[in-house]
Amino acid sequence: MALEDDNELRELIRKATLLNAVLHDGKAQAGAIVGKILGEKADLRTRVKELSNVINKVVNEVNSLSLAEQKEIVDKNWPETQKKQQAEEKRLPPLPNADKYPQIVTRFSPNPDCVLHLGSARAIILSHEYARMYNGKFILRFEDTDPKVKRPSLIFYDSIRQDLKWLGCKVDEEYIQSDRLPIYYDYTERLIADGNAYVCECPPEEFRKTTLAKQACPCRVLPTAENLERWHHMLNGGYVEGQAVVRVKTDIEHPNPAVRDWPALRIIDTKKYPHPRVGSKYIVWPLYNLAAGLDDHLMGMTHIIRGKEHYTNMVRQKYMYEHLGWNYPEAIHYGRLKITGAFLSKSKIVQGIKEGVYAGFDDPRLGTFAALRKRGITPEAIKKMIIDVGIKPNDVTLSWENLYSYNRKILDSTSNRYFFVPQPFELRVLEVPKTFNAKLPLHPEKPERGSREYTVTPNGDEAAANFWITKKDADAMEAEKVIRLMELFNVKIEGKTDNSVTAAFTSESYEEVRKIKVQLIQWIPKGMEFKCQVVMPDASVTEGYCEADCKKLKPDTNIQFERFGFVRVNEVDEKLVAYYSHK
Ligand SMILES: [Zn+2]
Repeated sequence: MALEDDNELRELIRKATLLNAVLHDGKAQAGAIVGKILGEKADLRTRVKELSNVINKVVNEVNSLSLAEQKEIVDKNWPETQKKQQAEEKRLPPLPNADKYPQIVTRFSPNPDCVLHLGSARAIILSHEYARMYNGKFILRFEDTDPKVKRPSLIFYDSIRQDLKWLGCKVDEEYIQSDRLPIYYDYTERLIADGNAYVCECPPEEFRKTTLAKQACPCRVLPTAENLERWHHMLNGGYVEGQAVVRVKTDIEHPNPAVRDWPALRIIDTKKYPHPRVGSKYIVWPLYNLAAGLDDHLMGMTHIIRGKEHYTNMVRQKYMYEHLGWNYPEAIHYGRLKITGAFLSKSKIVQGIKEGVYAGFDDPRLGTFAALRKRGITPEAIKKMIIDVGIKPNDVTLSWENLYSYNRKILDSTSNRYFFVPQPFELRVLEVPKTFNAKLPLHPEKPERGSREYTVTPNGDEAAANFWITKKDADAMEAEKVIRLMELFNVKIEGKTDNSVTAAFTSESYEEVRKIKVQLIQWIPKGMEFKCQVVMPDASVTEGYCEADCKKLKPDTNIQFERFGFVRVNEVDEKLVAYYSHK
């Protein structure tokens, strides 16, 4: 059946179009509708053109209505859908020309020469998110073709896979460029044979001079046969490092000298610098623009989403695409995302670890995903932040505090509460009139989660009960001042020595002291403490006691230590070791 005549489909399209129009000031966007329909009806992927035609018609009909008319239809027919969609729709704008392609394909292509850090989050999350939005394909491509300067290392292939998994970015296909050298050689041969590339023997300095003068170097004008001969000579080890490069012909008068006849392959002495995966098998290695440019086409990339520092690379690669008779994918160049205070340079991370400045790739001072994970920053928070920033070409500066606020919103509802007393100081409360059973809710707004319970029993003639409180709270205490032990009772300070504070019980109810705005402090009954270390973002360690109930916690749990901050439990053994997330 022609899609045109499928009434059920038409109705589905009409609904999606009206909902989309209402969200976009009355102008529905065809690309988004195509993506949505394909998301629901995958079998139509082979008929995208036909589908687009139907959608375009419906979009025209709907867009000719006023926004008010559209809203009226939506309110009448699908009142809940609209509300739900508005809540969800803090999403990315549609991709350009999405309806031109039967399936959207995006990629993330790291060099496995280091672990990933926050600086890669944008490329990963945007590329993955768009692939999902259009029910497309997300490719992971390891760009590991520099065994000398940006040398890949085997451990990083795996850590990158793990980081993507942690971020929730499922990879549909994976490629490793060091497996693909024969493919690059084939296309290079074709480019040379067609007179679109040549083997340049000029010393770099000389080539630079010739190019700056907008002139062809002597190699450029050699007969094709001779260039092919040089190419085979290169493959057979006839040159040493630095003696020859393959160049792709561009416009020798291009306004940007960096675009003129860019280098595509060079020689690397892999006896001296063996590749971690393929050793010394190859000595001719592709440079970035050749390998990435060929792969983007060969892997069916429809949309390349990357930082605007890659703009010139697109200009360079377009010449090669023209030589090969290919169409360049849609390219979106977003602005730089700077995170103030985040330590992001790969080389500094690697160097710092080598020198022992950092404990490892998950040192809390680093902006690596491994460190963020250890600190209890959730992938959902990172994702939400990146999607909110979007794909604008302008530079964006965020602070750690921005990321924390996204994370806090998530952790606040999911984390149970406990008491932690850094730098413990003793509090002795006298005249406690009876035994108290304190019930401390695990979450103030979620009673169904239950509580921690501690019994406080007065002892001896003085009816005393002993607690641990923080030194900071103790320092702020003055005689006669009333304070409240959270969820327990109120006490009046009597005196202080170097090791302890003495106070007297005054009353139980919070209502009584609420008016005078007393300080509420956390406490742990003496004897119910559990040793605890919190590793702070600057890698310093805060020592103290957490409450005994924390012994039950499992590693990798996020909790909130009240009046201290959110932490992620790293290990529970003789003591609890946690990493600090943020306030
Ligand atoms: Zn030359």
